[in-house]
Amino acid sequence: MPLRLYNTLSRKEEVFKPLKKGQVTLYTCGPTVYNFAHIGNLRTYIFEDILERVLRWNGYGVKRAMNITDVGHLTGDSDAGADKMEQAAKTAADVKKIAAKYTRAFASDMRKLNNRLPRPLAPATKFIPEQIAIIKLLLKRGYAYETPAAVYFDVRKFKNYGRLSGQSLKEKLTGAREEVVFDPAKRHPADFALWFKLVGRFKNHLLHWRSPWGWGFPGWHIECSAISRALLGQPFDIHTGGVDHIGTHHANEIAQSAAAFGKPLARLWMHGEFLVIDAKRMGKSEGNFLTIAELEKRGFSPLAFRYLVLGAHYRSKLNFTWESLAAAASGLKNLQAQYAAVAKAKPSALKLGKKYPAAFERAISGDLGTPEALAIFQKALRDKKLPAGEKKTLAAEFDKIFGLDLAKGARGFARRPEAIPEKVRQLAARREELRGNKQFMQADALRQEIEQLGYVLEDTPNGPVIKPK
Ligand code: AMP
Ligand code: ZN
Repeated sequence: MPLRLYNTLSRKEEVFKPLKKGQVTLYTCGPTVYNFAHIGNLRTYIFEDILERVLRWNGYGVKRAMNITDVGHLTGDSDAGADKMEQAAKTAADVKKIAAKYTRAFASDMRKLNNRLPRPLAPATKFIPEQIAIIKLLLKRGYAYETPAAVYFDVRKFKNYGRLSGQSLKEKLTGAREEVVFDPAKRHPADFALWFKLVGRFKNHLLHWRSPWGWGFPGWHIECSAISRALLGQPFDIHTGGVDHIGTHHANEIAQSAAAFGKPLARLWMHGEFLVIDAKRMGKSEGNFLTIAELEKRGFSPLAFRYLVLGAHYRSKLNFTWESLAAAASGLKNLQAQYAAVAKAKPSALKLGKKYPAAFERAISGDLGTPEALAIFQKALRDKKLPAGEKKTLAAEFDKIFGLDLAKGARGFARRPEAIPEKVRQLAARREELRGNKQFMQADALRQEIEQLGYVLEDTPNGPVIKPK
C-alpha cells in the first residue's frame, strides 16, 4: 500500500517517493533553547517522530537533521524585538549556559516521550561559516542588499515568495502589521534580515562573529537553509515544522535557498497543527505554557501525553484539557493491561489476526492516520477470539509506530500494582482547576474524597504530589 502524505506546497496528499531509492532525507525545525519546550511544541515533535517511524516501517533508511536555535531568534516577527537567547543573559558565557541547560531539558523531554532525537544535534552557532557563505551568494546574485544595520533578503526579487502559504506579499503585510521600522534603509517591510550588525539595539549583542559585513550575528531563518544543506544536501525529501512556520519562517527558508542555489530546498512540506487551550494557541506570551515536568507533577506519565496526541490527526487542532489527558492516561493504562495479559505468551504467526495489519497499514498510510490506527490496535487487543500469541505479535509490530513502550509498560504493570488510580488522578486535576478558580471549598471537598480513596495530596511549591496514605 503506497504511503500518502499531505504536502502543504501542493495542498494535496501525494504518494510519497524519495529522491533516492530506499533513503529519505528529513529536516525538522528544532527548538529555540531559551526556555523549556511546552507541550504544544512537543506535540509537533511527536508528529515528526511518528513520521520518521512510519518511514522506517515502510523500509526506508531515514537521514534526519534538526537545528537547535541558540542565537538570533528575535522576540517579534519580522526583525522586531530582542534576541530571545540574550534576554536573560549578561555575558556570552551566560548565553551558552542557557543554551546548554535548555538543550539538555529538551533532550530529556524527547526521551521521556519516546521521540528519537536526531543526532548529532546542529546548533546554529556551529554553522556560522555555512550561513555566511549563503548570504555572500545571495548578495552576489542580487537577492540581498546591505544597509548600515543589516543584510536583508529582498523578497520582491523572489518571484514565488508566497507559494507555500498561498498569501500574496500584500496580504502578508496587512496580516503582519509591520510596526517597528527598526531600519529606515530596509526596502520593503517583508524583507528579512540575513545578518545583523552590531549597531543600534544590537550594539552590545553578546554573541557575534566576524563577517564580510563587519561583526554581527545571523538572522534566524538562514540557519535552517545552511544546516539542512550541510547535513542533508539540497534538495532533500521532507521538511517539517508547526503551522506557524508556513507564512514566514518556511517561506523565508525556501526563498533564500532557492535564490542562492537555483534549486528547491525540499520536495515535501509537512506541518503539524497547534495544540490549543480554550481555543488559544499554547505559547509563552499567551500565559498558558505547560511543560512535561508539570504534567509529571500532576501524576501523569509523558507517555499518556503521547497517547493523547496520537488520538488526534496531526493536521487537526488538539484542544488540551486535564480531563482529556486523564482520559488518555486511562486509555494507555487499558492498553498496557491488555498487553500485560498476553505478555507471557510466545508470539505466533498471524492467522485469525491477519485482517489487522492490513487495516492498520491502510490507516497509517493515509497521511499518518494515527487515531484510526490506534482504534484498530485497541480492537485487536480486545478481540476475544484472537489467541494471545497473535496479539503479542500484533502489539510488537504496531508499537513500532506508536512508541508507547507497551512491553516495558507491561513489565512495570506487573511489578507496580500500586499505581495511582485514574479516579484519584482525575480528582486531583479537577481540584487544581477549582483552586485556580479560587473555589477553595469545593477543592477541599475533593481533597477529602481523595483521602477516602486512600491517598493524600501534598502541596509543594511545584504543585501537588499524590501519595498513598
Ligand atoms: P519554537 O521553539 O518556537 O521554534 O517551536 C518549536 C516547534 O513547535 C515549531 O515546529 C513550532 O512550529 C511548534 N509549535 C509552536 N507552538 C505550537 C503549538 N501551540 N502547538 C503545536 N506546535 C507548536
Ligand atoms: Zn527552520
